Amino acid sequence: MNFISIQSYSNYIDAHIVMGQLEEQGIVCWLKDEYTLTIDPILTNALGGIKLMVAENQVQRALDLLEAQSREVHKTQVCPKCSSFDVDMISSNRSARNWFTAISGFLLGDYAIGGKKVFHCFNCGLEWNKSPESE
Ligand SMILES: [Zn+2]
Repeated sequence: MNFISIQSYSNYIDAHIVMGQLEEQGIVCWLKDEYTLTIDPILTNALGGIKLMVAENQVQRALDLLEAQSREVHKTQVCPKCSSFDVDMISSNRSARNWFTAISGFLLGDYAIGGKKVFHCFNCGLEWNKSPESE
């Protein structure tokens, strides 16, 4: 079975947490260079970190799981255009382009003001409707 490195970690604990999460989902994986790096952390940068190795035929599923987790961490969406995580929910009838609307929205609350909510990407400026599965 071939294994492919899908992610690298400078931290032994992070690497183990992710590997454990993937294993729970039935992904066959292991950590490359773990032993070396645990003994001599100075080598971490030289070797490019602890590599998460995943069975070749499960790589896509593993990447999907990691992506789902990072969304969970960010509690937000990924921009469908530029894949930025710098995304927030705003009212479609206002845009947060100047400080006044940003502050009044913060003080009064978007939900108090009402209006339709859309996602806004602060990286490329794209706005799109809330996806049904996030309701
Ligand atoms: Zn974007």
